[in-house]
Amino acid sequence: MKSWGARLRQAVNQFYYPRISLKITLIYAAILCVVLFVTSAITGAGVYFSFYHQAEIEMELSIRNTLEKVAQGRLFTPDFWKEDPLLPGVVLRVTDLSGRVIIENDARYPSIEKIESNLREKPPLFANPQMEVADLRNMSIYYAKVQVMQNGQLYGLHFFKTITAEKAFLRTLLWVLFITNIIGFLIALGAGFFLSQRVLKPIRTLTRMARRIEAERMGSRIPVSIMRRDELTELAETFNHMLDRLQEAFKQQKQFVSDASHELRTPVTVILGYSDLLGRWGREDPEVLDEGIASIRSEAENMQQLIEELLFLARADQKRQVLHKERLELSELVADIMKKMQLVATKHEVELRRNDEGEIYADPVSIRQMLRIFLENSQKYTPEGGKIYACSEREEDCFHLVLGDTGIGIAPENQEKVFERFYRVDSSRTKEDGGAGGTGLGLSIARWIAEQHNIEMTLESDLGEGTEIHLLIPLLEPQEPTVKE
Ligand code: ATP
Ligand code: MG
Repeated sequence: MKSWGARLRQAVNQFYYPRISLKITLIYAAILCVVLFVTSAITGAGVYFSFYHQAEIEMELSIRNTLEKVAQGRLFTPDFWKEDPLLPGVVLRVTDLSGRVIIENDARYPSIEKIESNLREKPPLFANPQMEVADLRNMSIYYAKVQVMQNGQLYGLHFFKTITAEKAFLRTLLWVLFITNIIGFLIALGAGFFLSQRVLKPIRTLTRMARRIEAERMGSRIPVSIMRRDELTELAETFNHMLDRLQEAFKQQKQFVSDASHELRTPVTVILGYSDLLGRWGREDPEVLDEGIASIRSEAENMQQLIEELLFLARADQKRQVLHKERLELSELVADIMKKMQLVATKHEVELRRNDEGEIYADPVSIRQMLRIFLENSQKYTPEGGKIYACSEREEDCFHLVLGDTGIGIAPENQEKVFERFYRVDSSRTKEDGGAGGTGLGLSIARWIAEQHNIEMTLESDLGEGTEIHLLIPLLEPQEPTVKE
């Protein structure tokens, strides 16, 4: 059970940061409401205007007809109505100077005084300014007054037109519009709610699924329908792809840890074995003592190298491996490394075939490390008497550096895999050869270094023939190629 404080906090939170479904519903309802209101207002105003306008036209026509008759000399006697100049519904009263009614066509109509005393102060905006509007009980009356001279006498012509029926209609119309607006608003609320629920359903599924997927159960994916293709499908797909990548990275990490511990276990076991041996017989037997010490040292060296490599990769993964790039004369570096190789690989024929001059922009320590990795592999996987060679050729905007050997080669199906961490074509082979057993990390480190220097690296190898590593190292400034004698 949640505490009252927590509930209150949640309610306040929801008020300030409403759920998307609520927002959609309200926005939908508000938009519909505005549309309904504007349409109703325009309809109402239009109908209202057209009624008043109609009444005005009828009044104007009647006034014009009457004035024409007066101009023709028709006298204000009951004969005046013989050819009625008025349109149906229009009432005329003629008064003399004293205000007495001389003739009228509808005696039941309210008196002029009564109408004049009830004139609206402000007639409707769009009404003809020459006319006035009077409100009597439940009816409105249009009123216009014209003065004419006849036989030297001044007469007042008072025209009236009732718009009662229209007013009642207008009131009904306003009510209908008001009720329609309310119903429309309620429908908009309902429809908005329904729509938002429908639209957001996949998002809720997504959230539920995401909650269920944990680091340990990364196998499940959000179901993506093939039929529907919208933004949410894209989101689900992106999410699934992200999970794929995470799962892969997670798996690799697990594999890496397990491989690393496995690799460390072997030398530790060997060291323990030899220390036991030394403890039992080593004190008396100098031969056992020498062998034991030599083996322990060699295993410890293996371990040290492995730990160095692991640390390097860990720093690279965490982007903490610092590179100090500088201008470097590649030919000097290659010459130096090959000279050292000649000293170390005494059982092989080491040859520097060509070494063009030119500068590159690189971290000297890492570049040396990378070249050493390739050359040590050549030394390790080339039988005695075989060749290890290097050839550095300057091209238009890069160096083409080849490091090769005439060793055992790598089968085509393994050529991609040798760059993976801990991968060895035949893990038992190196140990049998009597050399230090490799860990399978060398080439993955070399690949990382190459990537950091934009060096394009390809491996060419034929089983039993030999292996060549081709490196395209970007030049610092393109210059005319010169061959070092
Ligand atoms: P280390 O981490 O000590 O270098 P390693 O040499 O076994 O160990 P990598 O340098 O990554 O590991 O090489 C991976 C594998 O590729 C090697 O185990 C070997 O089987 C194969 N390989 C690499 N270079 C050559 C080569 N020049 N000739 C034949 N096989 C090679
Ligand atoms: Mg190696």
